[in-house]
Amino acid sequence: SLSDRLGSALKDLRGKGRLSDADIDRTCREIRLALLEADVSLPVVRGFIAKVKERAKGAEVSGALNPAQQVVKIVNDELVGILGGETRRIEYAKKPPTVIMLAGLQGAGKTTLAGKLGNWLKKQGHQPLLVACDLQRPGAVSQLQIVGERAGVKVFAPDPGTSIGQTGELGTVSSGDPVAVARDGVAEATAQHYDVVVIDTAGRLGIDEELMRQASDIREATEPDEVLFVVDAMIGQDAVSTAEAFQDGVGFTGVVLTKLDGDARGGAALSVREVTGRPIMFASSGEKLDDFDVFHPDRMASRILGMGDVLSLIEQAEQHWDAQQAEAAAAKITQGELTLEDFLDQMLMIRKMGPIGNILGMLPGAGQMKDALSQVDDKQLDRVQAIIRGMTPAERDNPKIINASRRLRIANGSGVTVSEVNQLVDRFFEARKMMAQMSGRMGMGVGGGRKN
Ligand code: GDP
Ligand code: MG
Repeated sequence: SLSDRLGSALKDLRGKGRLSDADIDRTCREIRLALLEADVSLPVVRGFIAKVKERAKGAEVSGALNPAQQVVKIVNDELVGILGGETRRIEYAKKPPTVIMLAGLQGAGKTTLAGKLGNWLKKQGHQPLLVACDLQRPGAVSQLQIVGERAGVKVFAPDPGTSIGQTGELGTVSSGDPVAVARDGVAEATAQHYDVVVIDTAGRLGIDEELMRQASDIREATEPDEVLFVVDAMIGQDAVSTAEAFQDGVGFTGVVLTKLDGDARGGAALSVREVTGRPIMFASSGEKLDDFDVFHPDRMASRILGMGDVLSLIEQAEQHWDAQQAEAAAAKITQGELTLEDFLDQMLMIRKMGPIGNILGMLPGAGQMKDALSQVDDKQLDRVQAIIRGMTPAERDNPKIINASRRLRIANGSGVTVSEVNQLVDRFFEARKMMAQMSGRMGMGVGGGRKN
């Protein structure tokens, strides 16, 4: 998957002190392949890689982030940018009703979306009316009626004649002309004080002139505030040509991605926004009414990157990491001179980021480490902190002097048992030895990865 490829491309950068141009080129090649494999269109990939490369090469050495983290951040920023940056909300009409028209190929998920949108609008405090303008496909009108009933939202439908069920107390028009139904639907909404109208339209299996003309006629007749192009995220590269055709034939103000619950490779999402310049506004991820949400570019980017929530960890590290402190600690670690005082400082610094379980949970691969993680809890850390605080500065600075009588005093002072004090001191010595060995072998300091 795209996430896996990007993940492994970026993993190669971990542990590097500084990125050479060759490192960046190689990583960008991997990212390029990953994006192409995910069905992102070529021009979009090219533009994306060029931007990432430029920023990576010009990146300043950061005190808070190591080079791999820095590239992750750049890739993420650019992904968010390509996905539209900010979340774009519906623009409601100053004078209701707000008219929202849905357009897209058959099977894209328009009718399902009409129900979800109705449900969502209702929860937002609106009174939506769904209008059934797909008079092409047999059963399309009753499908919308079922969906509307499930959502508890009224449906305006053409006169069913005998084949389609009843339409409720709402007015009806003669069947056959989707443009007339759309127009009457909006008029009905105005008369009955519905404040949002969602127009469900017909689609075809492929792009076809008559379909475009019909959609475009409905648009002209109802002057919608928003035209949402609904596209199945699973169709990959075809999403781009379909989007272009709808942009030329009907025009739209926003995009809705559907079927994101399938094994969509993310390519459609990346391309459509970039190619059409129209924002992705909603995402649909299942057949149930609630499988629907406002589209958040930042969330989609981290989903595509698939690096746990490593990104929020990076953000927090940037905010909280004191580079100088980290550097000093790293030097001490390398020389095996870390003191309990440093240890306490580092612990406090890490804990500023939030509960320890959350912090560890954000690391990639943390899913499989659940068992190990469940043993690290904040209460335990509180006790460690209490023990160290119960020591004199001399003891913290030189833990070797902590003999049996000192241990007893510390235990009594911090309200723990002597064996807990023993454990902490033993583990500290072990960890200090191990860290010194590790940092010696890697030829670098631990912590911020700051160089120069
Ligand atoms: P329309 O022809 O554009 O109106 O598409 P429909 O709303 O009739 O949807 C076509 C099919 O896709 C139906 O079987 C829906 O249940 C299904 N569908 C729609 N949206 C989603 C989605 O987000 N996820 C999944 N898994 N199925 C969806
Ligand atoms: Mg439909």
